[in-house]
Amino acid sequence: YLAKEGRTGVELYQPDKDRNSPERLNLLGDLRRAVDNRELRLHYQPKVGLGTGAVHGMEALLRWRHPVHGQLPPSEFIPLAEQSYLMRQLTEYVIEAALEQAARWWHSGLRVQVSVNISARDLLDSALPDQLEAGLAKLRLPPSAIQLEVTERILMGDQAYTHETIKALAVLGVPLSLDDFGTGYSSLIRLQRLAVSEVKIDASFVKRIAESDDDYRIVRSIVDLVRSLGLRSVAEGVESDDVAIRLTEMGCEMGQGWLFNEPMPPAEATVWLREHFESSPGIEYGYRSEVT
Ligand code: C2E
Ligand code: MG
Ligand code: MG
Ligand code: MG
Repeated sequence: YLAKEGRTGVELYQPDKDRNSPERLNLLGDLRRAVDNRELRLHYQPKVGLGTGAVHGMEALLRWRHPVHGQLPPSEFIPLAEQSYLMRQLTEYVIEAALEQAARWWHSGLRVQVSVNISARDLLDSALPDQLEAGLAKLRLPPSAIQLEVTERILMGDQAYTHETIKALAVLGVPLSLDDFGTGYSSLIRLQRLAVSEVKIDASFVKRIAESDDDYRIVRSIVDLVRSLGLRSVAEGVESDDVAIRLTEMGCEMGQGWLFNEPMPPAEATVWLREHFESSPGIEYGYRSEVT
């Protein structure tokens, strides 16, 4: 049983001690069936304008309601999926669901950019830009109706195939967001050469800017740098007013975090959007000029 699972599901070797443990393999098997069993859902968390409260976008975050283990956070199953071909299937599902939600919002006048997290593996595959192009066309959405969040580590890697896919996405016109910034090893100058329009500052730096002068200075210099490159900053993990006030002082454009909202299921997210959309800076993405 173990050998069979190992062959079919996990083909990237990582010397993790317990990676072939029965628990892991069971979970991977369960995950393989989870899409068909409709156990996976997206929740949405707003990106909010600091100081304005305007809606800048909605980030899709994957949730798994496991029949036995209950609600599992992405940290429990995404890394597992990332070591197998399953990640591509999950991303395919995530993109399809997020595009459908984006279209429902878009065509009802709630023109907000929906962002999707993608993994390194997704960029190995030139089918990703093709899937996006077909999905956008089918749903009559412009490319700026969505955004892909890519982590620093992935984007800064040297693999040629990754760059091919990123180039194809840029040609398509789908914006990229650089997620978890600060945790990896980016050469900041290289940012300019990549088709990135937004930088998300990792929560681990943002959290303590109210108490730690060091963290405050780090985040402020990231915000300054991002601005000098002509990009926008999003602070992740904003949990308190103290933090939001300091970010606003620094000129950080957007924040995301429990202070504003937890990730919400689609129906709740729609209600929230309706209430907040009036103050949205839709024009920034050209939403009002692009007709459906
Ligand atoms: P991320 O993209 O950096 O997402 C931000 C995470 O911070 C989310 O965790 C969100 O729920 C959480 N968060 C939001 N506000 C706060 C706050 O005020 N304080 C703190 N401490 N956390 C906050 P979540 O949903 O558990 O997702 C974790 C990670 O899993 C994501 O990090 C992303 O890297 C990955 N992930 C989630 N959904 C997907 C997906 O559909 N595909 C892929 N490839 N990865 C995903
Ligand atoms: Mg993200
Ligand atoms: Mg992040
Ligand atoms: Mg993060």
